[in-house]
Amino acid sequence: MKKTAFENISCGMFVITSNDGRRHNGMICNTVFQVTNTPNRVVVSMNKQSYSHDVIRETGKMNVNVLSVKAKFDVFERFGFQSGRDIDKFENSEPSLAQNGLALLPEASNSYLCLEVKEYIDLGTHGMFICDVTEEKVLSDDDSMTYDCYHKNVKPRPESAGKKGWVCKICGYVHEGDLPEDFVCPWCLHPAEDFEPLE
Ligand code: FE
Repeated sequence: MKKTAFENISCGMFVITSNDGRRHNGMICNTVFQVTNTPNRVVVSMNKQSYSHDVIRETGKMNVNVLSVKAKFDVFERFGFQSGRDIDKFENSEPSLAQNGLALLPEASNSYLCLEVKEYIDLGTHGMFICDVTEEKVLSDDDSMTYDCYHKNVKPRPESAGKKGWVCKICGYVHEGDLPEDFVCPWCLHPAEDFEPLE
């Protein structure tokens, strides 16, 4: 059984793409919601420490790539477990672009939406962008990836047989032995609180 009611709120998984004027960038996000339909308005919330947050505050636009069940673990590794501040997530690839010039991920997604930021709300740790939709398109009939589906089917299962240690609830990384309080997951950079003991 889930430990908190928050874990039973269904949510999708998305790659938010943006461009800082030098290169394309993308991040994994699970907080995208359509909040009105006349006109269509979408909110996206993201951690202020993410590079995408700063880029989107500056440029006022982003694309939402709606991940489908066909998205493989490497998409999550590439866009979720490292920062675009440090590396080029589109290195050696020529992404296809939407009309707004921002990257699309047609192999991993079933739809995309192009957003223009209308308002920004400071939520403390996170910032929320309230956006108009300038373009939207369905790319395939594949079902959308959900947060539950990612955890059940995509995230690698820990190879825990006979091992004593801790597993990251976010990405599945296994740390053998004691877990220091200030431990940071080397794959997804989540803190020690997001680890649970191996069973
Ligand atoms: Fe992790």
